[in-house]
Amino acid sequence: MPVRAVVGANWGDEGKGKITDYLAAHSDLVVRFQGGSNAGHTIINDYGKFALHLLPSGVFYPHITNIIGPGTAINIKGFLEEYDSLIKRGVPAPQIFISERAHIVLPYHILFDQYEEERLASRQFGSTKSGIAPLYADKYLKIGIQACDLAYERLLEEKIEAALEQKNILLEHLYRKPKLTTGEIVTEILAYREKFMPFVADTLVIMEKAAAEGKTILLEGQLGALRDPDHGIYPYSTSSSTLAGFAAVGAGIAPHLIRNVTAVIKSYSSSVGAGPFVTEISGEEGNELRRLGGDVGEYGATTGRPRRMGWFDAVATRYGCRVQGATEAALTLLDVLGYLEEIPVCTSYEIQGSETGDFPVTPLLGRAKPIYTTLDGWQSDISKVRNFDQLPPQARAYVNFVEEQVRVPIRLISVGPKRDDIITR
Ligand code: GDP
Repeated sequence: MPVRAVVGANWGDEGKGKITDYLAAHSDLVVRFQGGSNAGHTIINDYGKFALHLLPSGVFYPHITNIIGPGTAINIKGFLEEYDSLIKRGVPAPQIFISERAHIVLPYHILFDQYEEERLASRQFGSTKSGIAPLYADKYLKIGIQACDLAYERLLEEKIEAALEQKNILLEHLYRKPKLTTGEIVTEILAYREKFMPFVADTLVIMEKAAAEGKTILLEGQLGALRDPDHGIYPYSTSSSTLAGFAAVGAGIAPHLIRNVTAVIKSYSSSVGAGPFVTEISGEEGNELRRLGGDVGEYGATTGRPRRMGWFDAVATRYGCRVQGATEAALTLLDVLGYLEEIPVCTSYEIQGSETGDFPVTPLLGRAKPIYTTLDGWQSDISKVRNFDQLPPQARAYVNFVEEQVRVPIRLISVGPKRDDIITR
């Protein structure tokens, strides 16, 4: 299929970077359509190990055109540093274009993110404090700055001046912090203009041309379905849509062209930040899974924060696949479960005395108790297996059970962090 979206079915950190990197080899374009540097995709390849924050996962392939679409949030300094760090590590200069309509993270977005979490104290959301929520708030308040605005200095000054009228009232009276001046903000943004502007382009034209030529396009999601502001665990959600449906808007491509939606599903659960997490496990059981999870334990790729750990939640994942409109799934991190004698899988919730398989709204989710089915573990290392039939029968049974529960065919099974640690099915 020429146009495919690769998106998360859970809370993020499902291993989308690894799956996108694997699928990118056969793609012509890789496109980021939402979010900013507030999450990280871990990719391990011949150049080493990388945590990509804003760069699309196609940057390791010289033949790929990478696009950061109009739905994203660009931290200019962060982008340039990430780009330079790739080059320093021997990666050939990738082709990257940033939409002229993408919004720019301004210094005050980052400050407001920090100040608001400080103000909320114990009620905070666990923001990565990279300015993403304040940026999207400004976008919808129509006081944001788009990449194209950097070319028009006077207009940029006027826009910042207008935004600061209200920001300074909040800084002074709500947060009791120093006020900002237009001059300092404009100087800071324009310091990077010369290096940044060559990346800025009308990406719609590039996308249209590629689609017309039948090129293979990969739309790369950040975070997961349950962090979507409309369909996720609001308000413990992110600030831009994580769904394949939004990929059409955030990347700039006709919706009918997206035929294939690969939902990335994690073999167990993890979550960063606040919010209800039904299958969360604590104590030594949780620590063990955190220690053995991922490639070097389950710690945030952007923040280094320990992730909250849990068993596989079929109720949440089935819902995640539904809202993504998944046509197929990639099951990741299956190798991690090899240490377990028995593996609990949550197949339904008990909420106020009734059992349900449907994912509820946030207030009810906080009251849901997991109902588990226990499957046998395989207690062996499956990381070298490349053929589904050669997996231990218990591992095959686990995959088949998850598939039945989420009602989406599992076409890829990831059994290790490296590009080739994968089973196709
Ligand atoms: P993403 O944001 O969805 O790309 O996920 P992250 O990069 O935040 O987290 C996934 C972590 O799991 C990274 O450390 C990956 O290197 C690692 N990883 C991905 N797939 C596998 C897998 O199948 N097995 C193991 N052991 N690690 C994996």
